[in-house]
Amino acid sequence: MSDFYLRVPFSDNDAVRKLGARWNPVAKAWCVPEGVDPVLFAEWLAPPPDINVRSSRYLLASSEHRCHRCHKMSAVHGFMLPIGHEALNVGDTEEEDEWEYGEDPTLLSHIEYLSPTVATRIATLTPFYKLAFTADQNECYYSNFCDYCHARFNDHQLFAEPGEGFVAFCLEDAKRVQLLDVSESFAAQCNGLSIGIALFEDMTYPAQQSPMRDGGKSPSRRAMAPD
Ligand SMILES: [Zn+2]
Repeated sequence: MSDFYLRVPFSDNDAVRKLGARWNPVAKAWCVPEGVDPVLFAEWLAPPPDINVRSSRYLLASSEHRCHRCHKMSAVHGFMLPIGHEALNVGDTEEEDEWEYGEDPTLLSHIEYLSPTVATRIATLTPFYKLAFTADQNECYYSNFCDYCHARFNDHQLFAEPGEGFVAFCLEDAKRVQLLDVSESFAAQCNGLSIGIALFEDMTYPAQQSPMRDGGKSPSRRAMAPD
């Protein structure tokens, strides 16, 4: 997990190779391996993140997805924030930026930055959720990779296509998604917020409040306590 990924224009490929960067064919990106000083690569490191979502706790969501390449069912992972999280509403000037109270549980996608504690936690869960460039190299965000053939899955498919990954329009879909309640603070920069996931509401009670909404109707979907 300690690999640093770089944004390298094609003309700089030789330069970063000579400094010790390694091409990662899975992530399709140059990265700085452990033991090599990332400071050498300052000009190619991604710019510091602007955090735009935060929460006092979060839910690690797991689901499954059929791989487009090897056709096996692979585990996939993502993050959900409970009621009471905050999202930055960007104003015309920095003074007009406002943190807004999240009144609905929210699924995050196209995550460009995760705070280190969150990034470490997901890395202990799976090696197949990691920062990666998109095919056109213009964007870099956390992506799921196939457990079997390491194909990269597109966030759009996992978070926007009915019947796939984390998209649940019926109870049958929602059963596919497991949530792990993590009582740690969360901060990220992300470009995709899916709001109003009614099926998950009974699992995403606000911070400081006990889970009272289940009513015993869906015990298999209850959030588990973190270990
Ligand atoms: Zn596969």
